[in-house]
Amino acid sequence: MKSLLIVLISFFILSLIFTFKVNASHSWGGYHWARTANPFNLNIGDNVKSAWDSYLRTASSDWSTSSVLDTTIVSGRSFTKNCRATNGRVEVCNAKYGRNGWLGVASIWISGGHITQGVVKVNDTYFNTSFYNTSAWRNLVMCQEVGHILGLDHQDEDFNNPPLGTCMDYSADPTPNQHPNQHDYDMLSEIYAHFDTTTTLKQSASLRGFFEIDHNDLKNLGREIRTNLDKRTSLFERDFGGGNKVYTFVTWVSQNRGN
Ligand SMILES: [Zn+2]
Ligand SMILES: [Zn+2]
Repeated sequence: MKSLLIVLISFFILSLIFTFKVNASHSWGGYHWARTANPFNLNIGDNVKSAWDSYLRTASSDWSTSSVLDTTIVSGRSFTKNCRATNGRVEVCNAKYGRNGWLGVASIWISGGHITQGVVKVNDTYFNTSFYNTSAWRNLVMCQEVGHILGLDHQDEDFNNPPLGTCMDYSADPTPNQHPNQHDYDMLSEIYAHFDTTTTLKQSASLRGFFEIDHNDLKNLGREIRTNLDKRTSLFERDFGGGNKVYTFVTWVSQNRGN
């Protein structure tokens, strides 16, 4: 009788752990860069001005702590404000994008189920204000947008609950959320546990040319996939057909600091 009880209790605990693990998954649709071996290297094009360089370096080295991948900062190819994507890599740009409501955006282009290119933009219109012009806010947003390009989703989208200690968490207080946490690294190990027969980590002429996305015009970002507790869309999908999609993650300014 006693042993039956122990078995039942163990089952209960195991199912709790299993449920927690499923809920705690924050890969975005399983999308990932195709590659044939780990650790793989992702080139990040540096198009940012000097005020952002140290934050980009921090985000790059933080994510490179992952055992499955490394990121390397290389010279940018898109110094224009629109931040044109280059396939096989990421372009990171900063500019005064105006009072459009977003602090930062990250877009991933998907083709055949794999990420083929990524763009990160940070909005100096807000980062030049005293509220956001702090290293904590800059670290949080840069770390989160680069995390999205790797295939990660948010761990949490409630600005007002206790911070989780990861940059993949929406938070009113950026201080504890400036870097990835162990759960992010575990998630990356899971996403990149298998190998592909091809790679999307280099320029490929065979990849279909993608449309550019104008992040200032929200209609351009496509269908709203998910809304956070503030009723703002945190994830958009633009479907170009034929398995070609662009997903855009948006980090909004706080309601009382916005446009
Ligand atoms: Zn794959
Ligand atoms: Zn985000």
